[in-house]
Amino acid sequence: MKVLIGLEIHTQLATKTKMFCSCATVTDAAEPNTSICPVCLGLPGSLPVPNRTALEMAMRVGLGIGGKIATFSKFDRKNYFYPDLPKGYQISQYDQPIVQGGSLEITVGDTKPKKVRMIRVHLEEDAAKSTHTADKQHSLIDFNRAGTPLIESVTEPDLSTPQEAKAFVAAYRSILRYLRVSQADMEKGQLRCDANINVIADDGRKTPITEIKNMNSLRSIERALTYEIERHSAALQEGREKELIKETRGWVEAKGETVSQRSKEIAADYRYFPEPDIPPLQPSKEQIAQLKTTIPELPQARTKRFVKEYKLPEAAARQLVSDAAYAEYFEQVISELQAWFSSAGQKVTKKEQARLYAGAANWILVELTKHLNKAALPMSAVRITPENFAEFLTIVYQGKINSSAAQTVLADMFLNGSDPSTVIEDRNLAQVSDTTVLDAAVEKVIAANPKPVADVMAGKTKALQFLVGMVMKQTKGKANPGVVQELLKKRISAR
Ligand code: ZN
Ligand code: MN
Repeated sequence: MKVLIGLEIHTQLATKTKMFCSCATVTDAAEPNTSICPVCLGLPGSLPVPNRTALEMAMRVGLGIGGKIATFSKFDRKNYFYPDLPKGYQISQYDQPIVQGGSLEITVGDTKPKKVRMIRVHLEEDAAKSTHTADKQHSLIDFNRAGTPLIESVTEPDLSTPQEAKAFVAAYRSILRYLRVSQADMEKGQLRCDANINVIADDGRKTPITEIKNMNSLRSIERALTYEIERHSAALQEGREKELIKETRGWVEAKGETVSQRSKEIAADYRYFPEPDIPPLQPSKEQIAQLKTTIPELPQARTKRFVKEYKLPEAAARQLVSDAAYAEYFEQVISELQAWFSSAGQKVTKKEQARLYAGAANWILVELTKHLNKAALPMSAVRITPENFAEFLTIVYQGKINSSAAQTVLADMFLNGSDPSTVIEDRNLAQVSDTTVLDAAVEKVIAANPKPVADVMAGKTKALQFLVGMVMKQTKGKANPGVVQELLKKRISAR
């Protein structure tokens, strides 16, 4: 059995103004029908003028996925009737899109990266937004969204599992964010994903293609596709694949199932024809080359560099890179650490450096993320300066505080933006490694625990751990456990 999944992703571009008029692009929170004009209302006689920034953003996305930028492309009218489409057609691109081809690499879990081919990326305009009143008697239309610039990206059916589809959307979204063309927030409807899916049996029988709509989160993409694969394979197993039809189905999150919406349209239903009011787009080779210089280092390349340069485990590198703010913070911390390495008297071997880098990644991905999630804050809101974070890491690395104190220090730094040495001093958290101070506690513990001491002498390591724990308790957790262990061993063997 073989599953074929292809995705169509619509993304709102983060331009200041709409695709074909100078109305501001506003969020759903704006008062309805306040950012509108004759063009986006589709009034007769109004003329569309393409938004240069939107064109450039679409081309930059094309370059980001390694696609070919067309030196000749055009807009077309896609005709259909719906109340949220005032002109009776959507200005889109049909046979000559602005970007052709390209690909994206995805990784699911520990599997090898998979290349997913792109068919195209084209520009179009968003429709208005309709809301249905609770009594279902009326539909209200807000034209603020009408004319918002969209790019539609279409993949080849190269995806074969719901997890791959989810990974693709996450990877694509990450590229859009790196390129700063869209926040691509699915919850806000800035990124909307439809999936085409069908299943082929080993004997060659296949189900007709279903298009799934209304998947509003990465999780619902995974759930909807899982449901649909099950529905198609059951039909094949029971030999009733001919009963399935080529249709559009909507994902109903609450019920966890897809329901039939309509039979799927084909291109001819839309009576596409070239938009006569907009001249063709003909970017020059120079313009394209210039745009290429604006493409930053993208997630895939950055992940590879993090692995190579900082010797990070692949998974940690991928996790950091998936959010540009995390990746940038990490690198700022690293550069502060490097300043510390090169500062007078610090001899840090390559191996120790790599350990510190891995530690930095881990503290950021695990502990800092925990604090951020708890406070419902994005990485960009972190108050700990990279310099303070690096100092914190070196303090932990040098064993000046133990791991439980480290948690306390980081929590304080996160809340108050304080520097670690001040927190350690104020809270008296410094780890005690001074043997003259620890000796007294060690002696006391040895005297009070003859049985475990005898066990240690008999070679039982568990007993040694118990004694270390007792000393930690004596010193209110401030003793350096490594030093304590050595002291204990020394004292006991000298008996
Ligand atoms: Zn307008
Ligand atoms: Mn579309």
